[in-house]
Parts: sequence; C-alpha cells; structure tokens
Amino acid sequence: MRQTIVPERTLLDQIDRESLSPMMKQYVEQKDKRPECLLFFRMGDFYELFFDDAKIAAKELEITLTARDAGQKDRIPMAGVPHHSADNYLNRLVDKGYRVAVCEQIEDPATAKGLVKRDVVRVVTPGTVTDTSVLYEKENNYLVSVYAVQNYFGLASCDLTTGEFQATQIITGAVDGKLRDEIMKLAPAEILCSASFLDLKVTAKLDQEKAFTYTVLPDQAFEPDREASYWTEVAIPGSLSMQAAASLAYYIEETQQQIPVHLKPCRFYEIETDMQIGETARRNLELVQTIRDQQRRGSLIWVLDRCVTSMGSRLLKRWINRPLLNLRDIHARQDAVEALKDDYLTRTKLREALGGIYDIERLAGKLGLGSINARELSSLEQALSKIPELLEILTPVAAKSELLEHIASQIIPEDELTAELQKGLADDLPIGLKEGGLIRSGYHEEVDELRSASEDGANYILTLEASEREATGIKNLKIGYNRVFGYYIEVSKGNLNLVPDHYIRKQTLTNAERYVTPDLKEREEHIMGARQKLLIIEYELFCGLRDKTAERTQAMLATASAIANLDVLQSLADVAMRESYVKPVVNLGTEIVLEEARHPVVEKMLPSGSFVPNDTMLDQQSDRVVLLTGPNMSGKSTYMRQVALCVIMAQMGSFVPAARATVGLVDRVFTRIGASDDVGGGQSTFMVEMTEMAEIIHEASDRSLLILDEIGRGTSTFDGLAIAWAIIEQVANPGVLGARTLFATHYHELTELEGAVTGIVNYHVAVERDERQVHFLHRIQRGPSDESYGIEVGRLAGLPEEIISRAYIILQQLEKDNAGQLKYRLKRPEHIMEGQIDMFASQLALQRENEVLGRLRVLDIRQLTPLDALNLLAELSTEAKHNQGKKVRGDQVTEADHD
Ligand code: ATP
Repeated sequence: MRQTIVPERTLLDQIDRESLSPMMKQYVEQKDKRPECLLFFRMGDFYELFFDDAKIAAKELEITLTARDAGQKDRIPMAGVPHHSADNYLNRLVDKGYRVAVCEQIEDPATAKGLVKRDVVRVVTPGTVTDTSVLYEKENNYLVSVYAVQNYFGLASCDLTTGEFQATQIITGAVDGKLRDEIMKLAPAEILCSASFLDLKVTAKLDQEKAFTYTVLPDQAFEPDREASYWTEVAIPGSLSMQAAASLAYYIEETQQQIPVHLKPCRFYEIETDMQIGETARRNLELVQTIRDQQRRGSLIWVLDRCVTSMGSRLLKRWINRPLLNLRDIHARQDAVEALKDDYLTRTKLREALGGIYDIERLAGKLGLGSINARELSSLEQALSKIPELLEILTPVAAKSELLEHIASQIIPEDELTAELQKGLADDLPIGLKEGGLIRSGYHEEVDELRSASEDGANYILTLEASEREATGIKNLKIGYNRVFGYYIEVSKGNLNLVPDHYIRKQTLTNAERYVTPDLKEREEHIMGARQKLLIIEYELFCGLRDKTAERTQAMLATASAIANLDVLQSLADVAMRESYVKPVVNLGTEIVLEEARHPVVEKMLPSGSFVPNDTMLDQQSDRVVLLTGPNMSGKSTYMRQVALCVIMAQMGSFVPAARATVGLVDRVFTRIGASDDVGGGQSTFMVEMTEMAEIIHEASDRSLLILDEIGRGTSTFDGLAIAWAIIEQVANPGVLGARTLFATHYHELTELEGAVTGIVNYHVAVERDERQVHFLHRIQRGPSDESYGIEVGRLAGLPEEIISRAYIILQQLEKDNAGQLKYRLKRPEHIMEGQIDMFASQLALQRENEVLGRLRVLDIRQLTPLDALNLLAELSTEAKHNQGKKVRGDQVTEADHD
C-alpha cells in the first residue's frame, strides 16, 4: 500500500520564527498550511524550496542544494527549479509519491507595494496531475473516492483533465468483489478514503492487485452538507454515492482552490445496469491489455481501436469495460455501426475530418484549470472550426440511424466563438503568455498602434546603427540589446580609438566595449514603453478570449462527448469492414449461436487466412454446457475465449467475427482460466482456483456466461475430477444455476455425463495423426475426444526423444496397472436426475480399490514368510470384499460396469 509521503519537518520545527525575514515568514506561513506537501514557492523566475523540502528536492531531483540567509544563526537550505520547466520536476516528485503545493505570486511584483502577496494556487497529487504531456492520451487519469459504511460502499470517480465525474453505490451482492472490479476498471491514479478504509479486507485485496496510492481524507470531507448544486445535477440525499461524490468535490476544491468550470455535473449510475465483467474475466479475456506483459497490443481494444481521436479511444475503453444490457441501446449502436460500415465514402471523409479535431475534452480541461496556453487555445479553435464540415459529412448518413441523428444534434458548432478566436489569435503563437505575439494585427487598434511604435523604434535603431557607423568610421559598430543594460553600442577593442566622447561606457567585454548615448536611452524608453504596454494589452486581450471560450466549456464538452461517440462508432464500423465482421442478432432469447466464428485477436496475430473458424451452439433451455475435450495446444482456450469475446462485442454494439451470430442477452461473463498464483496473497494455485470458482457459483445467474478451463487440475487427479464433476452438475442444473457454460477439461471421465445430466453436450477439438506426429486441426466437433495426446504435445514442444519414448512406456504401464479402476464407468440411472450423481461415494470406492492395488504393487513377496503372506492375503481379501459390499447409492458403481 502506498500513501503519499509526508515530508519531514526536522529543520522547520527548530527555527526561531521571530527572527525570520518577512519573506521567509510568508513562506513558513504557507508551509504551515500545507504540511503534507512539498512547497514550490515562486520567487521571480524560479520556484524555491526551503528547509527540509529543499533537502528532499535536491536528493530526489538531483539538483543543487544551496543556502541563504533567513535571519537565523545558520544559513538555511534552499533548492530551486526554473519556472518554465517546473512541471517536469513537479511531476517527477509526484511520481515518487510526494504531493506538491504550488505557491504563486498573486500580485504583479512591478506594482505590488512591499512584499508581493503569495498563495497556493494548486496542489498536485497523482490523481490531480493535469499536465497532459505526462499522461497517456488514450487513457483517463482517474481520481477515485470510496466512502465505506460497514460493508457498503459509495464510489465516485473523476478525471480532472476531462471533467468526467460519476458516482455509484455498492450495497447488494458480493460488495467487496464489486468494489474491487469497479476500481480495477477505473485503474485510478489515486484513491481517496477515510482512515478506517485502509484496514479493511477489501483494501488488502486491492493492494495485491496493484500498488494504489491512497490519500486519507478527514471525516467531514464525506459530508455533502455544502452547497452541492454546482457539482451535481441530481442530488440523492443520504446516498453513499452522494457522500463519495462530496468527498471528491471537497478534494478537488482543496487541491485546485476552486471547482473548475469544466467539471461536469456528477452522473449517478448503477453497476447492474450494464453487463458485468469482473476483474478476473477482464484480465483473462485480455480486454484492454494482455496478461503476459500488460500491453495494448494483443488485447481486444488493440483490434477494435480504429478511433481517430484520443477522446474516442478513451470512450472505447469504457464501452469495452461495460457492454450493455439494454437491448434498445445495443440495437441503436448496431444500427449506427451498420450505417457507417455500409457507407465507405462517408466513413473515409468522417475519419479525415475527425483527424483535424484535437482533444477537445483535455483542451477544455486546461481551460477550466486556467492552464491553457495560446497554442492550445488556437488548437481548440481549430478543432471547433472543423465541426461544421464534420456535420456536413455526418448529416446524410445520420438519417439512417437514430443514434447518429442524436449524436449529430449534440454536436454544436461554435461559429461565433471560432470566428472571434480566428480574428484575435496570431498565427505563430508563442508558448509563453507574457512575451507578446499573441494577438493578430487588425484585431485591436491600440495593439496595432503600439506594435507599429515599437517597430518604428526598432527601425530607427537600425538606421541609427548605419548613421553611427558612418559618423564614427567604425565599420563593425553594432547596436544590440540585453535585459540588464537595454540598448547599447558595441565597439570592438581594435576600434576604441575612434569612439567619440559623447559615448558613455557601460560594460567591458574581452574583445569589445559597450556604450550608451543619451539619444539611444531616450529612444529606448520610447520603444520599451510602447513594448511594455503592448505586452500588457496583448495579455489582457488573450485573457479576454480565453474567458470568452471558457464560458462555452460545458457546451464544448457536450460536443466533445458526441464526437467521441461518433468516433467509436466509426471505429467499430471500420474494423467490421476490414475484418469482415457481421451484425449479430442480439435478443432476449436463451441462445448463443455463432457460425464460423473467430477469435478477433488470435486471428489477427496469425498469418492471414490460417485461423480456423468454428461454430458454437449454446442454449440455456437445452444445450447449456459444452464439455470440451481435446489435447493441449489444440485451441480449447482460444475457442472458449472467442465465444466470450463475441458476446462482449455484440453487447457493446459492435459487429462480431463470425459468418452469422445470435446472442441472447448475457448479464455477466465469468471466467476461470489457467493458473493465476497468488503466492503473495498467501494462496496456492488451487486455492485461487477454488476461490474464483466459489465466487462464480455464488454470483452467476442463469443469464450468465461461464468459461471454465480445466477446473480441478490444480490438485490430485481424483479430488480434481470429483470437484470438476460436482461443479459441472451444479452449473448444468437449471434448478441450481443452469447457466450457459463452456467447460474444457482433460478429465475424459466427464464426457460420460452427456445424457446422464441434461444440458451437457460433448465437443472435442479434432486432431489428425500421421506416422510421425499429431496435427492440430483447431476444428471443434461434436462428441468426446478419443485420446489426450499430452505426450505428443511434449514432443512438439521439443522434449528429447528419450523422454518421449520413456513416457509412452510409462503410460502403457500405468494404463495396464490401472486397467481395473479406469474401466469403472458410470452406470446411467434409469431416470436421469439432474445434478444428483453421488460422485463422492463412487470416488470413495475407487480410492479403496486403489489402496489395495497400491499395497500389492509395492509388495516384495521374497521378503514375506509364508505366515505373513497368508495374513496379508486375508487382510487384502477382507478389504476388497468390504469395498465391494459397500454398494454405492445402490446402483451406481458395481462390478457389472467392468468391461
Ligand atoms: P492447453 O490445453 O494447453 O491450454 P489449448 O487447447 O487451450 O491448450 P490454445 O491455447 O487455445 O490451446 O491454442 C493454442 C494455439 O493454437 C494458439 O496459440 C493458436 O496459435 C492456435 N490456435 C488456436 N485456435 C486456433 C484456430 N481456431 N485456428 C488456428 N489456430 C488456432
């Protein structure tokens, strides 16, 4: 668990406050208000850090530690960073776990009387980083707040860079799991909570998933008693979501010193409204990143993201994480995708137009936070000015889809604003706002006048240079400018004898002397006066344009959100076209039927055309459980994942990689795939497997889709088989769960269940064998598989031939030795009773038989006396008879079952 580091105060606590200089008194006052932060204290062009903060910064940032007088016995430590590159240093400190308070001069030093006033204008923490240069543009940077009461939670999340703000509450079902799933989906940069939350079991669990950064808030932060109307549209008094949202608003205000204008009104949502995909399934299905190396490449989003804007990519991730349950919404998205898919020309033009639209959300965010520079404001203007063209392209195709029509109605051109910005902002804009060059000529009379006055002055200087050269005869005489001396005349050492008397020497360089003249000084004042004024007016005009733009923030954000939706839809359409996906029928039915379906990611990873498509037929009413057998490496996991991905894609509104598809709504997708060790969490592989399985059994409904891969393989064969067996019975039984399930197993014994338990159907992956090796056909076929080919897979993997041939000998031996018990078969009861086969009793019988055989196997007859041998024989015979006598449920395991 990581909490932000609170800097030490060893030095600060020892100082004599009375004898501090006035400025240092001001510093200490500010520092006292923010003891948990490193304080960046603005002094001219630098942010300075003092005392313990200076030492920390010097060490962490590898910058020089200096010292200064502060009225103390000893000089005090000091370290500074230039203000123009401060963000870089600041972000590095935040990255290392510190919080940084930025204390600015809030008066103009030129006009301030006495000490310049300073105040903290923002606090930067992992969740409040707004410097977009250090954030990945295709991901949100979420700040999350959790309000816990007993075992219920309120959860609010916000991305300060885009203004997105929402909240929910978790009060039913497996609350801990839901909270974990929701937090993992958001992947927050910082979690706000109360101190007691840190001691909860769920927090410890979260910590095993990821090293989150926690910030503890005081209790009053969670009380929504403050004026909330400005950050929430619908207040739900007393709800936990409201309290979580209140704490988030509190923190934003604390760190930003304001509720920024771009913060959207809080949206309250319910987790159950969408399809739920738990963290385990999200990870296993590699929806947004791969398991192995957490990369986008190789995940579902990697295939589906043909978005042109970052806004679109961020939204697509949210769509993938939360497929829909509402049929109307799913159909609306599908129709929009279809309309765009079928219209190649419009799609191409839309993509081109979207290409010119920058990240309006994040630019609006900068506007709201007051950190937008002139170039960014111009980018925003350019993005907004593309809107009419975008609408022109969109309108005809929008007539074919209700959703597109709605989107088009939400995209509002900002003609007046863009015209004003175009008129006002210059072409080649600087990054800094105080150096001029911001305002276009012709926009403001006074700017034009001052500009020409300062240009005239500059021209005069050029003329003066020529006339002085002529008057003095110094050919290389130069007139230059620097900030300390202003304008000067420079004469090289070799020409000093030609310098006239009225030149006043100002500065000596190695090879030259610099002079001024009264005339030059007078001109300078004139030029500088005009320039100074120009800079001030340009800055003021820029602020005017910025504020005018800021007034439209919420409208621009609504437009941005509509554009993001459009971008995602065109992306899905583009992928559907390129990859030959089809529109699935999504309905309230009970089937999942996929014809010639493919795994969207594996298909793209393999050489074109080499992926083998497969069919799927699951029906909650009849064939609920597909029991899939087949060798390792034959494609079982790929097949099962492909079904889950097709369902998720279908409910996102996307087309799916199949020739035809029908998906009866799925409320939740669960997976239990592969071994995910939790040694750090103190759980064995098998324990993790069983815990996940228990969660599934408790949480799944008959509308869920279950992907269960090799349940029970983490323990001894018989225990594993017994557990797998019992689970499959429960899952298949409509009286208990009856969910649509894909169940892959190496326990061939389970294939006997088809017919014995209704709803179970056998499928296997086809394999071909020639005299040299096996070939995986990756084709799923009806019926159980005949052999397991495990040793052949070992051969394919490159195990030495001696091991392979030895393995075959051992296998033969094992099969012979175990012939008796392996041939035990389940006798079908006359009346099939769903889920009622007493596996445990039959297993007990098998185990006893095994023990008798085991004892015989290790027996060395030569070591026995005749009497011992006789006794042993009697003992074993009794045991065997006793076992046989123990009829299991009267009729299930009997000698008659021996072949
Ligand atoms: P194990 O039982 O060892 O986990 P598996 O049966 O689950 O193996 P997969 O991991 O699904 O096998 O597939 C193994 C490899 O086979 C994949 O990496 C992929 O390259 C290839 N493969 C799987 N399915 C197909 C397919 N339908 N068409 C072509 N290649 C496939």
